[in-house]
Amino acid sequence: MVGSAYPSAPGGFAGRPCYRRVIAAARTQLLDGHGRAISDLRLSVTDRCGFRCRYCMPAEGMRWLDRADLLTFEEIERLMRVLVQMGIRDVRLTGGEPLVRRQLPRLAAMLAAIPGLHELALTTNGYQLERDAHALIHAGVTRFNVSVDSLQRERFSEMTRRDVLDKVLRGLATLASFPQAHPIKVNAVAMRGFTETEVIPFARFAREHPYEVRFIEFMPLDADHAWTPDDVLSGEEIRAAIHAVYPLEPEPRTPSATARTFRFADGRGRIGFINPVSEPFCADCNRIRVTADGQLRTCLFSLRETDLRAVLRGGADDDELEAVVRGAVWRKELKHHIGDPGFVQPDRTMSAIGG
Ligand code: SAM
Ligand code: SF4
Repeated sequence: MVGSAYPSAPGGFAGRPCYRRVIAAARTQLLDGHGRAISDLRLSVTDRCGFRCRYCMPAEGMRWLDRADLLTFEEIERLMRVLVQMGIRDVRLTGGEPLVRRQLPRLAAMLAAIPGLHELALTTNGYQLERDAHALIHAGVTRFNVSVDSLQRERFSEMTRRDVLDKVLRGLATLASFPQAHPIKVNAVAMRGFTETEVIPFARFAREHPYEVRFIEFMPLDADHAWTPDDVLSGEEIRAAIHAVYPLEPEPRTPSATARTFRFADGRGRIGFINPVSEPFCADCNRIRVTADGQLRTCLFSLRETDLRAVLRGGADDDELEAVVRGAVWRKELKHHIGDPGFVQPDRTMSAIGG
């Protein structure tokens, strides 16, 4: 019973967290102050990346974190052990581009060995999958999302500022050759004025390959702060365009799922839509994030962070670490405010948060 397992939280966190009472309830399900059980973690392992996707990074001049500020694998493993004991079930490795972190498969193996972890996933731009797919699967990564914004070489290059579509598609094919890697998701950010011509080719791609293609609405997390509501090509617009050519049937939504999924009516594959702007799914959000420099973020759009690296490096024991996490998660934002008057874009870009 998740709800009754955490009776002391509201009193304890009305002001300064009541660590003693929290410790007494040690390792019960992590809950926020709105009653949501938190079971999903996006863990960034680096802010670095070789691509410069227009919706994410600037063409040049990106400033990187100092290496000494990144959590070490050992620090990450310790944090994960505590979080998994608190009910985190699914961990997604992301970045930046996680495969630029040397020896990522070693970290994956360390995390996959944590008792109670249900799923270890990876989001990648695919550039190094030819090299790493085998090692990652062998290490225990169970789910893969590969980002591909266009299936046409020049347009892919225009969006990512790197002429490497062939290599990414070869990486995807390498991954797909491992039965354990399926189902594989292919994510495309949808931007008005760019993605319209990609929609039907991607639908065909999803019908001809064993991939679930998912369109993600463009969010205001770009380095250039150039986002406007007009740039968002909504999932519903894309769904309607595909449905007109290849009829779609809705699938039931799994609680806390980010994507609305549809199957092609003739049974040839499925397609998904992640619509955080036009159809926010904050109400049953079960996610938190930890940045590569160890900052806990309770929402993609958080304007405050909790410094777990300082706790990890400051000599705190696991109970103290747990108490800091509980205090921060208890204050998790109810919802994002994209589109509301006064919305403030976080300083960090998507690449520095971990998408
Ligand atoms: N480098 C890896 C990749 O691209 O898959 C992992 C990190 S990337 C920040 C994670 C996901 O966020 C990718 O699917 C990317 O397309 C998406 N993303 C980045 N910036 C975005 C934005 N402004 N709006 C929506 N999605 C975005
Ligand atoms: Fe790199 Fe991923 Fe951002 Fe593209 S979306 S620049 S691949 S971190």
